[in-house]
Amino acid sequence: MKKEILGIQFDDLTRQEAAQAGAELLAEDKFHYVVTPNPEFILAAEKDREFCQVLNGADLVLADGIGVVYSARIKGTPLKGRVPGIEFAADMLVCLNETGGRLYLLGAKPGVAEEAGRRIVEQYPNIVLCGTQDGYFKDEEAALLKVAAARPDLLFVCLGAPKQEKWMARWGKHTGARLAIGLGGALDVFAGKVERAPESWQKLGLEWAYRLKKEPQRAGRMAKLPLVLVKAAGERFKKN
Ligand code: UDP
Repeated sequence: MKKEILGIQFDDLTRQEAAQAGAELLAEDKFHYVVTPNPEFILAAEKDREFCQVLNGADLVLADGIGVVYSARIKGTPLKGRVPGIEFAADMLVCLNETGGRLYLLGAKPGVAEEAGRRIVEQYPNIVLCGTQDGYFKDEEAALLKVAAARPDLLFVCLGAPKQEKWMARWGKHTGARLAIGLGGALDVFAGKVERAPESWQKLGLEWAYRLKKEPQRAGRMAKLPLVLVKAAGERFKKN
């Protein structure tokens, strides 16, 4: 079931339900893409019509940030919970490992995707790492041709938003992959370059605060986020 929050149609799923839905998409012989919007995406999509359409055109729209969950609650259309992109990605790796499928990693700074791939294969030995490419390419089509030549089943696209979503919507069906996921900085985490918040912080919904503590340069970007909550409250009172 979809729930609309400030123009974005989110899938109302638990992590387990999202993993089940993802597994079905991965088994189907056609291209699908998954997006993982956080509040920054919502604000950007308000000003960028193409981005908004690309998000709503995805096969799964997962609520990545706690800010999305709060906004939904404030708006009076609560979601079952948060499905962090990185956890959904891990669930899809488990699935791919079961079938010995092919994985391609696209994005991040040079060398990061290779290291992420090395660690992923160490943990999931049946996965075939069929290719990696950094995310600072100039020619989108040339990047696509490299991906397609590797014949992946599962593709992680980690170019930051909205670049990764637009890339998937535009080129995804030509990659031959069954499932592409837009995952922001996930390759940096898989490669061990960036740490996720400890579980205690995650449980309290404070992953954003941990990230801010580690990367204070994000303060400018994050300062806009309470605006999403205010807008969600505005929508609720417009309804009543
Ligand atoms: N990135 C990229 N190509 C670009 C811009 C960014 O591959 O042209 C990568 C960047 O190196 C990082 C990721 O995209 O690994 C985006 O990280 P960010 O922290 O912005 O995403 P978030 O995790 O907040 O969604």
